[in-house]
Amino acid sequence: MAKRKASVCTTDCVACGCCMKVCPRSAITISGGIYAAVDEELCVGCGKCAKECPASVISMREVTA
Ligand code: SF4
Ligand code: SF4
Repeated sequence: MAKRKASVCTTDCVACGCCMKVCPRSAITISGGIYAAVDEELCVGCGKCAKECPASVISMREVTA
């Protein structure tokens, strides 16, 4: 079954934490204070983080589970 997961372009992430604040599943952490990391086990693919990101570096990708 196809599911959506958030994917962060880590090189362009500015570590603002906006995505982390809106995630209903607490699936995002700021790794080492440098970039956002998504826990794919927790991510339910709602897309809120991607909408919130001021740098537009989060994309939603289809994954097969
Ligand atoms: S898509 Fe939704 S659940 Fe997944 S990391 Fe973004 S805000 Fe969290
Ligand atoms: S909102 Fe965007 S720029 Fe900010 S920490 Fe999340 S992925 Fe990085």
